[in-house]
Amino acid sequence: MRAQRTARWIGGTGVVVGASMAGLCAARVLADRFEHVVVLDRDRLPDGPEHRRLVPQSQHPHLLMKAGHEILEGWFPGLTDDLVDGGAILFDIAADVHWWDQGGLARRPTSELVSPAMSRPYLEHLVRQRVAALPNVTIRGATAVGGLTEASGGGRVTGVRLDDDTVLAADLVVDASGRHARSVRWVEELGYESPVVDQVHIDTRYVSRVYRRDDRRTRGWTAAAVMGGPEAKQQIMCLPIEGERWIVVLIGVNGVVPPTDDDGMLAMARSFESHAIAEVMETSEAMGPAVTHRFPASQRRRVEKLRRFPAGWILLGDAICSFDPIYGQGMSSAAQQAQALGAQLDRAGAVDHRLGRRYFAAAGRIVATPWSIAVGGDFAFDGTTGDKPFGTDLFNRYGRRVIIAGQHDDAAVLRFNAVAAMVRRPASLLAPGFLLRVMWASRRGPGVVTSSGDESAVTLQSTQATR
Ligand SMILES: Cc1cc2nc3c(=O)[nH]c(=O)nc-3n(C[C@H](O)[C@H](O)[C@H](O)COP(=O)(O)OP(=O)(O)OC[C@H]3O[C@@H](n4cnc5c(N)ncnc54)[C@H](O)[C@@H]3O)c2cc1C
Repeated sequence: MRAQRTARWIGGTGVVVGASMAGLCAARVLADRFEHVVVLDRDRLPDGPEHRRLVPQSQHPHLLMKAGHEILEGWFPGLTDDLVDGGAILFDIAADVHWWDQGGLARRPTSELVSPAMSRPYLEHLVRQRVAALPNVTIRGATAVGGLTEASGGGRVTGVRLDDDTVLAADLVVDASGRHARSVRWVEELGYESPVVDQVHIDTRYVSRVYRRDDRRTRGWTAAAVMGGPEAKQQIMCLPIEGERWIVVLIGVNGVVPPTDDDGMLAMARSFESHAIAEVMETSEAMGPAVTHRFPASQRRRVEKLRRFPAGWILLGDAICSFDPIYGQGMSSAAQQAQALGAQLDRAGAVDHRLGRRYFAAAGRIVATPWSIAVGGDFAFDGTTGDKPFGTDLFNRYGRRVIIAGQHDDAAVLRFNAVAAMVRRPASLLAPGFLLRVMWASRRGPGVVTSSGDESAVTLQSTQATR
């Protein structure tokens, strides 16, 4: 795999801070446009698909949405095959998922929304291998960045200062160091403004555990998600990962803390209307203890509103927007932002203020959609606080109708899943013909079990809306 050499490099050296998913995506894009690309991460970077200390979320399920999957496959042809060769499972998020929500089970029509399911360390490992194989990219682990350097007259970032005080010169610095993005403070210390930050406090708690997967057991579905309704503030999901394993996550929102002991976890799993995932937990061997993660708030830096910032400084990934992980959008959004960075570099042909302004505007547009989905959904829970987008309550009421419609009508579930997979905009749910269809289909109410093969896992068929 080679970076595509352009007729003229846009710059000499591009430095990326952070070698997690966003940093790797950024490096892939810079490799086509900069003579040298150096990716720095303060974490030790393992040789294999291992969890990393500074990416603790990697111990929890990571869904790769279709939008992100397509971008990654485009950059790294054959990545999907490699993932599958190593045990990832291709699944259709409409046809292969037992999805219980709003008191009923979604229909399961075949869609084009097929993506691989695997552990986060395995995906990151294969992507890191591909990026490291690019001839002009160097990845350095155990290398912490501690500051930025600026041109003598100001106005431009000229490199990064490492924690050991050495300086690495760069024409462009991409900060992909995650939601804490320390370069925001460094830029402020250089006399620039820092972006306004929107926050929505959801206080999501994850409790994840890995189980051995025995494919001789037929379950009739590949992955499962069971929602407990906003009063319960609890959800449960189950995803197959490589190594013939399941990863199951119990989720609490607004400070509801799922249990971590065997009996407590099973009792919570059994408390949902669908027992599909409880049955997995009961019939599969646990492969280790439960691990926890607390996600306090979704956070969006409004980079598109920045008026004064230095040329040569870019934010990307969670550094711009860190979404409530329940919606599985972070990696795909990072890939979209990196793609936009590439497009804006090509358009500008140089690293100047216009590049930053245009990229930040594009990134702001990209994150706006998943942000509206994530924080909109979070405000369905009455304990959520923060910057509530206009029209959220109305859209949530309609969203519930879409989900119920999807229990009777293939078109409804297909459109909803396309939005969730980030290949269609939420506005497509409001197209007049579709809206009428939703209103018609949802009149029947929730609770009808429609998908063959799933009934055995469903022990209670509600006929009442739960919200
Ligand atoms: C519980 C949980 C579940 C999630 N599930 C999903 C999911 O299902 N699907 C999905 O798409 N997304 C999911 N996400 C989000 C996803 O993990 C992130 O969006 C994704 O990792 C991209 O983040 P990032 O690369 O911007 O930052 P991070 O993954 O946080 O990585 C930042 C990197 O920067 C490095 N770093 C930090 N400071 C420095 C420094 N000073 N110098 C050098 N290096 C530095 C760190 O070591 C780290 O490697 C989930 C998140 C959580 C918390």
